[in-house]
Amino acid sequence: MLCFDVDGETTALSESPAFAQRRTLMSQCEYGPRIGVPRLLDLLKHLGVPATFFIPGYIAENHPRMVEAIVAHGHEIGLHGYLHEKLAGLSEPEEEAILVRCLDLLTRLTGRRPAGYRAPWFETNPWTAALLGRHALDYCASEMGDDVPYTHPNGLVEIPGQWLLEDWEQFAFNADPAWGFIPENCAKVYDLWWREFEAMHDFGSCFVLTLHPWLSGRPSRVRLLEDIITGMQAKGGVWFARGHEIAGYVRTHPEARREIDFDHPANA
Ligand SMILES: [Zn+2]
Repeated sequence: MLCFDVDGETTALSESPAFAQRRTLMSQCEYGPRIGVPRLLDLLKHLGVPATFFIPGYIAENHPRMVEAIVAHGHEIGLHGYLHEKLAGLSEPEEEAILVRCLDLLTRLTGRRPAGYRAPWFETNPWTAALLGRHALDYCASEMGDDVPYTHPNGLVEIPGQWLLEDWEQFAFNADPAWGFIPENCAKVYDLWWREFEAMHDFGSCFVLTLHPWLSGRPSRVRLLEDIITGMQAKGGVWFARGHEIAGYVRTHPEARREIDFDHPANA
């Protein structure tokens, strides 16, 4: 599962509205929706693979042509907060209000109701899975409890990620506000991600790569992604799927779920 979290301007604005006056900072954030996304869409089209784009409501509202282009290319669009709000600071009613607002907004802008959700900062509240289930979402892609999808008690599918397969830790840097680290060499990142892919392939895992267009839309990182995807295609035995397709598969193939889990309620 290839995921693009199009945080764009919300990367800065969720920290402080005052950052709207900082033109260099904001232009770096805008690079994602304006330059990174079209370049990545071209790459995905060239390679013939589908992806899932998680987009904050604010970004979808402010970049409607980008949303149109993603839909036209056949990719899935999922929820990612309105202003990339950290859920840990929200009450359940506040979280629900944002969810409802963004469901309406993305349904209107894309012509279809979103099926999936990625929590901003990959962090959920104890009630989030139940909330998503109540609003008829198919899946959440925010937890990190396994390396194959699993189901919540209400039937909501979880497609787990991991920090290892994220570009922020590898490439994010900003001087002020201080974000990230010294950007990594793509050769090192290729090695990191490829080793995890090969081992996950052996273990029959779900490889969930999470990329941000303002980082992975930069030229050498687009080449890195091309090398990773063409390597996967050459290896074979890989299903490139959008989130809703994975959720559908998990629902209809209970035998595909993990059997050995010491603490799973079914084994207790
Ligand atoms: Zn994000």
